[in-house]
Amino acid sequence: MAARRQLAQSTLDRFRRLLQEKEQSLVAVIAAHEAERSQVRMAETAAERSPDPESADGSAMAYEFEKERSVDRNSRDILGEVRSALKELENGTYGDCRVCRKPIPVARLRARPHTSQCIECAGSRR
Ligand SMILES: [Zn+2]
Repeated sequence: MAARRQLAQSTLDRFRRLLQEKEQSLVAVIAAHEAERSQVRMAETAAERSPDPESADGSAMAYEFEKERSVDRNSRDILGEVRSALKELENGTYGDCRVCRKPIPVARLRARPHTSQCIECAGSRR
């Protein structure tokens, strides 16, 4: 087994801070979407009662709703990655590629602290 890379404690602390900030802002974004969605849902319920579901307003709303949903999905995906990265920080496995177990270059971690794969593995997935 290859020797584990030891990241300096100060580096780990910096990534932990970055990830915690990211987690908080994502939670806020998702909560905002949640609130918006319940408004849309109320509006949709009102629209169902009206006899004109094909109205321009209705389709514009559906489009907005779809757009929101994809942003939301994206935020949730990233939040999941952020949280598992925080868990890895606690376990001491942070910075290792989840696929090949090689250390992820610090430059990549700096650009994307929540990443769990090295460039090679992330690239070959596509
Ligand atoms: Zn890898």
